[in-house]
Amino acid sequence: MKVLVTNDDGIFAQGLWTLVKALKKIAKVVVVAPDREQSRIGTAVTLSQPLRVQRTKPLVPEVETYSVEGTPADSVILALTKLVKNKIDLVVSGINHGVNLGDDVPISGTVGAALQGYLHGLPAIAISVDTVDSPYLDNAAELAALLAKRIEPNSLPANILLNVNLPSLPLTQIKGLQITRLASSSHTDEVEEGHDGKQRYYRLIRHKINEATDNKTDVWAIEQGNISITPLHTTLVNKTSPLIPDSLFSDLLQELQKR
Ligand code: MN
Repeated sequence: MKVLVTNDDGIFAQGLWTLVKALKKIAKVVVVAPDREQSRIGTAVTLSQPLRVQRTKPLVPEVETYSVEGTPADSVILALTKLVKNKIDLVVSGINHGVNLGDDVPISGTVGAALQGYLHGLPAIAISVDTVDSPYLDNAAELAALLAKRIEPNSLPANILLNVNLPSLPLTQIKGLQITRLASSSHTDEVEEGHDGKQRYYRLIRHKINEATDNKTDVWAIEQGNISITPLHTTLVNKTSPLIPDSLFSDLLQELQKR
């Protein structure tokens, strides 16, 4: 199995290399990621200018690594159509430092990269952990490796796009694992007005709405201390209406806790 790993926090982010380390135990890994932080760039693709790519020294030994002067989505497109010679079986984007939930998902570069994998016909996982500062990255990395093993090439009837979020908790304190849907209103927008002396400007500010009320949503799951897995295929991109077999998720938390 060959896995493409990317992210939106940039090629030196700790989350990316923690993920690579875990995936390398079960698959061949190639890293193609933006050369700088691109959080909240969403699904953006660069068509207006040329993209420069550098073969880069990996932070985990013996991993083919490229840094891209572009967006997370650019990185995936370049990897799948040009840089990587052998066929990729799975795209994993992350581990993002900070959760990607509800109506933040469309602006998430982590999800934007995974979406490109999905649009190229591959199973794809976006994975994020709560708390930007010191997230428990190892749990997320092990979970990604478990999911990768369960998504064996061509063994499932459908293409898969999963948005996975973990609370920043030690594994023993994680309460459960919930298959969720995106919360529809997890933020409100505010526009701040200012003046720089010459011109008026506006600044967009997002406010998190706390206290989810719908117990089927990703925001609720994380608030409760659960892992949230949201299959995005029918909500974000209505390409086909695939059914993901229950076996993909059955006893997943139990298996994670056994590791
Ligand atoms: Mn990010």
